[in-house]
Amino acid sequence: MSATILDGKKLATEIQQEIAEEVADFIANNGTTPKLAAVLVGGDAASEVYVRNKQRACERVAIDSELHRLPEDVSQDALLHLVAKLNKDETVHGILIQLPLPDAIDASVVLRAVCPVKDVDAFHPENVGRIVQGNPRFLPCTPQGIQQLLIRNNIETVGRHVVILGRSDIVGRPMANMLSSRGIGADATVTVCHSKTQDLASITRQADVLIVAIGREQFVTGEMVKPGSVVIDVGINRTDDGLIGDVDFESVSDVAGMITPVPGGVGPLTVAMLLHNTLRAAQQC
Ligand code: NAP
Repeated sequence: MSATILDGKKLATEIQQEIAEEVADFIANNGTTPKLAAVLVGGDAASEVYVRNKQRACERVAIDSELHRLPEDVSQDALLHLVAKLNKDETVHGILIQLPLPDAIDASVVLRAVCPVKDVDAFHPENVGRIVQGNPRFLPCTPQGIQQLLIRNNIETVGRHVVILGRSDIVGRPMANMLSSRGIGADATVTVCHSKTQDLASITRQADVLIVAIGREQFVTGEMVKPGSVVIDVGINRTDDGLIGDVDFESVSDVAGMITPVPGGVGPLTVAMLLHNTLRAAQQC
């Protein structure tokens, strides 16, 4: 293995320390505490873990959090009623709807119902539109964490070819918008690939920075990667051997110059950025 490990866990801890200081200042100056309300529908095991991690992270930086649990068979109207209540609640600054929602609920309707100024995941169409126009209110947590990882490790993006595997609304699309925008940690030339992309390896091999978010265990192998490049593995695949990324760490780390591990790479940064957005929501209200 020759690649340098990009330690997302360590960086997330540093960012959380910065946020904790800002939260303390905010409380001292405003007499109020930033608060995140999380909504969890059903008992999906992975979602339970994610929500618990987010609540613990809130505690570490002294952001208040509250969890609203609804049963798997809750009606869409009842969920929308709760969202409306949280929108009106002046003590709540950020609202998080843990995805996925049950099939019977139209997630796009629920995400559109969240007040855009409390939309700390940046999934509301107004916030997506602002990102596309280069005037974001909030940046979505996972792409924002990846951008911070690049910036804080002095990884150049200006004029570099970034290839993104995956075009989800949560990772691939906003990541492409952010990195192709003007500004710090951006100004890249971006290619987005997906399941219909032809001769994928010929494109990934051109990447100075390769960001992989497809949900396919160890899909990217050493021969798909440019020597010396930066490889960011967003994938979280639950297997009998624990969490495994979308990148075959063993073969890719022999070729790449830098690589994120799974776990301990992008995941902790996603949580840190949720705290960042919740604090910003409180500061902006
Ligand atoms: P998603 O909604 O599951 O979509 C997967 C994307 O990958 C789609 O755009 C799909 O293309 C593309 N894809 C699938 N198979 C492909 C293939 N063989 N070749 C090229 N492209 C392919 O994506 P997501 O929600 O972004 O999740 C991706 C992974 O990241 C998952 O493992 C998820 O758990 C993880 N994740 C991690 C974090 C974190 O904090 N670390 C956050 C979010 C997600 P089509 O559009 O053509 O179907």
